[in-house]
Amino acid sequence: MRSSSYLVVPASSLLVLLFGVFLGRAVLASPVKHPNCIGAAECPRIVSREEWKARKRLGFELLPVTPTPYVVIHHGGIRRYCKDQESCSAIVRSYQNFHMDDRGWYDIGYNFLVGEDGNVYTGRGWDYVGAHAIGYNTQSIGICVLGDFTDFLPNAAALKALNELIACGVSLGKISDKYNVIGHRQTRATECPGESFYKYVKALPRWTANPIPLRTNTTTTTTTEPTELRDNDVAGNDKPAAL
Ligand SMILES: [Zn+2]
Repeated sequence: MRSSSYLVVPASSLLVLLFGVFLGRAVLASPVKHPNCIGAAECPRIVSREEWKARKRLGFELLPVTPTPYVVIHHGGIRRYCKDQESCSAIVRSYQNFHMDDRGWYDIGYNFLVGEDGNVYTGRGWDYVGAHAIGYNTQSIGICVLGDFTDFLPNAAALKALNELIACGVSLGKISDKYNVIGHRQTRATECPGESFYKYVKALPRWTANPIPLRTNTTTTTTTEPTELRDNDVAGNDKPAAL
């Protein structure tokens, strides 16, 4: 699909592009149909790594299981929130710095991050193994909502973007249409994604109480990061679950 995307451009996409020239930011800030996937669900606005000023990744590993059967939901675990692209980008950069400098990973751990500005921020993206949930990194898209959601839910804009991102991933063939969603705490002892947010995750129609990770062989790697060695959330505030 990717290789043919330049050959088959629907007229509607051309119109959107033309309107974009005239309307500029107004169009760019709106949810858009993904131009290379006809019939795709509405995708939320996805801020590129260049836009949030990501550091260069130092390695990568292609997902061996795709489309992925799982979506793993996280929160950042620190009480720092944002309502616009500039402040959300700063938080995403702080997560990346923590994962690379303190954890020693080659990049930010999550596949995507969601801000309460309603934007999605590209982490490792759709095609690469993340470092966020041991046992599931090779077969899931890991999505982190910026902030700590122990005591309250992410705002409506963030929840909308989260659900649109998952639907978008299914439409693009990156997430299985039979996917299950789980919270990080289902993969190890952690409070992530926060008590309040986890109640929301459990109420999602695709949530499963009994996830069973596939056994995968990850020999086709170009990585320097042991995929299954570690995972964590930001700033050491991803506290172990109470006993
Ligand atoms: Zn987590």
